Amino acid sequence: MTEPTITQLEPMPGDWRRALAVVAHPDDLEYGCAAAIAAWTDEGREVAYVLATRGEAGIDTLAPAECAPLREREQRASAAVVGVSEVEFLDHRDGVVEYGTALRRDIAAAIRRHRPELVITMNHRDTWGGVAWNTPDHVAVGRATLDAAADAGNRWIFPELTDRGLEPWNGVRWVAVAGSSSPTHAVDATPGMERAVRSLLEHRTYIEVLTEEDPETYVRGFLTGFAEAAGERFGGRPAVTFEVFAR
Ligand SMILES: [Zn+2]
Repeated sequence: MTEPTITQLEPMPGDWRRALAVVAHPDDLEYGCAAAIAAWTDEGREVAYVLATRGEAGIDTLAPAECAPLREREQRASAAVVGVSEVEFLDHRDGVVEYGTALRRDIAAAIRRHRPELVITMNHRDTWGGVAWNTPDHVAVGRATLDAAADAGNRWIFPELTDRGLEPWNGVRWVAVAGSSSPTHAVDATPGMERAVRSLLEHRTYIEVLTEEDPETYVRGFLTGFAEAAGERFGGRPAVTFEVFAR
């Protein structure tokens, strides 16, 4: 019997200069796609991060008022490791982010400020595949980001943004969803992997609460395991995968 053919992922589009990554929480990008971001900034591309929340509900033993500034600091350090210096927070409330026009407007405003050709977000679907349930914040932010890529280009959807001096930006060509169970494209994770490990390790407080394992062993195992599994669909090269929605 012959092996079933595994559909191979396409390389990510390369003709862009600026990307904006929009996710719900500190660590969302580090768990999924920091290796790709490191490779892109190495090539001289600009990447900025926008986080809907400060992840203040993420650590059981830390009250939100203490947790928010700590996670913000860890997120900024973690972004710096992969060459990202602009990190913004939209201050929606962690755990109860609501999909709706307020969220779409905040993300559309960020897209107009940064004027990216590529927008990155995280899994907007109900599950991670199979029966692994996704969290409501990820679903809300992922969906709102896919919608806001179009909202940002329409002068009449959120006219208050134009009043604030944010002119429409209709230049988003792709929205790439990390952590999707239906990926279409991939980036070679090899050149950025060491920095991806160090980037995730910057979320030290969160990781120390999460696992009994040595943080570096845990982080390296998690990231390389995922990248190697994804590589089966990318010519055997460890990969970061995306589901790309072209516009
Ligand atoms: Zn998250």
